[in-house]
Amino acid sequence: MSDSVIYSVVVPVYNEEQVVLESYKRLKKVMDSVNEPYEIIFVNDGSRDKTAFIVNEICEKDKNIKFLDFSRNFGHQIAITAGMDYTEGEAIIVIDADLQDPPEVIPKMIEKWKEGYEVVYGKRIERKGDTFFKKFTAAAFYRLLRRMTDVDIPVDTGDFRLIDRKVCVALSNVGERSRYIRGLISWLGFKQIGVEFSRDKRFAGETKYPLKKMIKFAFDAITSFSYKPLKIATYAGTIISFIGFVYLLVIIFQALFIKNTQQGWPSLMAITIVFNGIVLMILGIIGEYIGRIYDEAKGRPLYIIRQTKNIEKDKKGLRG
Ligand code: UDP
Ligand code: MG
Repeated sequence: MSDSVIYSVVVPVYNEEQVVLESYKRLKKVMDSVNEPYEIIFVNDGSRDKTAFIVNEICEKDKNIKFLDFSRNFGHQIAITAGMDYTEGEAIIVIDADLQDPPEVIPKMIEKWKEGYEVVYGKRIERKGDTFFKKFTAAAFYRLLRRMTDVDIPVDTGDFRLIDRKVCVALSNVGERSRYIRGLISWLGFKQIGVEFSRDKRFAGETKYPLKKMIKFAFDAITSFSYKPLKIATYAGTIISFIGFVYLLVIIFQALFIKNTQQGWPSLMAITIVFNGIVLMILGIIGEYIGRIYDEAKGRPLYIIRQTKNIEKDKKGLRG
């Protein structure tokens, strides 16, 4: 048997000092049982705790483990992208570090891949240990996204999935930086299938997705796959100005023919506030798109690597 890597596991880590060692152990156990050469790439997304130190130590002992260390926090989706860029395997598996995605599902994914599927995504049938708020917002988000986009993005599916090397290469050719990876993978096409699993509780620590990151993530997803919010702005603007115009006619009519016109400052005030609110909201929506266009236009690299471990010195990723 040649010892070229067949499976590459990509694990983004951000402040996961409590989790990363356990995560490595569980992954190693599963990957050893598969009995084909593999690599596990940890991508440290600018952790401020001991995560990098722990991964370094793991790398010293186990040469199957590779390490990409970002110069700062670039975000979950970018960390996954970088990991993918440096993989060598024929099949690439993306998994969260916190063991919410059980590594034991990987062999099932591999089975599907061997049957010829090019994308095998994990479909959550249950979410243990997530708060009501998280479950509710997640369910609402996936359904809203589905209604808004033309791309068929499966609901309740995270980044936990296996993709074929072909898909990985295609994905690295997508230069976008507001990356919503699950959406992009759906957009790419290929033969896709889901494997159901129940999402566990976080092994330790707390979520690295505070509300602010969740909102950015949702905006990235929607803006990269839909113009509908801009259309809503147009429709709302049109309808409201029509109503305003009708109201104006009524006022003129009253002034000309009825004579006893009211001292109308309360209504005036109300209308001013409503309209200003709507104008600001619409400008905000447009701003979200322009900001992203600006980001793309600058063409900066997606991420900056401080150091690597167990990766050949001059090895360039798919991107570069
Ligand atoms: N993560 C990351 N960068 C970030 C936030 C999260 O690399 O800026 C990693 C994190 O370490 C974990 C995965 O992304 O491996 C998913 O994050 P988390 O479990 O906190 O999200 P949740 O499951 O709560 O949605
Ligand atoms: Mg998690």
